Amino acid sequence: MKQLLVLPLVLLIPLCRPVVADDAPLHVELDSSEVPHLTEWGEDAKALVVRWHPRISNLLATKDVESPRRITLRLRKSDKRVGATSGTTITISSSWIEKHPEDLGLVLHELVHVIQSYPSGKPWWVTEGIADYLRWGIYEGKEQKWFPRPKEKQGYKKGYRVTAGFLLWLESDIAPGIVKKLNTAMRNGKYSDALFKMETGQSLDELWDRYMVSK
Ligand SMILES: [Zn+2]
Repeated sequence: MKQLLVLPLVLLIPLCRPVVADDAPLHVELDSSEVPHLTEWGEDAKALVVRWHPRISNLLATKDVESPRRITLRLRKSDKRVGATSGTTITISSSWIEKHPEDLGLVLHELVHVIQSYPSGKPWWVTEGIADYLRWGIYEGKEQKWFPRPKEKQGYKKGYRVTAGFLLWLESDIAPGIVKKLNTAMRNGKYSDALFKMETGQSLDELWDRYMVSK
């Protein structure tokens, strides 16, 4: 009799799992209609988005914020700009792909922007620094010494790779987890330079000066 009771319980377990929105499928639409000869490159770029979307979403996870799960990847016939993101649409220019077909990391950078979903994107150097930190530091796996480090006051404001290297140093040497905290502040519209002082006990400018002389 006891054995008979076990079976229905086992069958009930899957029904008891909470339904979470994260189970919604990721839908990436590739539009290469303007440049059909680049469709194969577009398929590789789409595969990168599918593979990295959950990883980037987890690295930038904020309570009660869901990553967009419908993304359009558009290859545009153009010789202007390299790549751009507007909302959940990533647009890449054909001339750049033709000259640099190996540059799939560009798509990773734009994917970060889709997931960041910052209301204002200001200050821009934080937005671009985080995108390049995830692209060059995490996706490409570049070492600290690879990142450019201009010897000037407030060099962190240069954004992109410069800020990315600074963030990598902060993560490894000073304040592990600071990128996630910056990300949450940016998402909530609560970023301020004071966040650096709160997390490390030193001001942003003091940290930059320290980074300048670090190994
Ligand atoms: Zn960008």
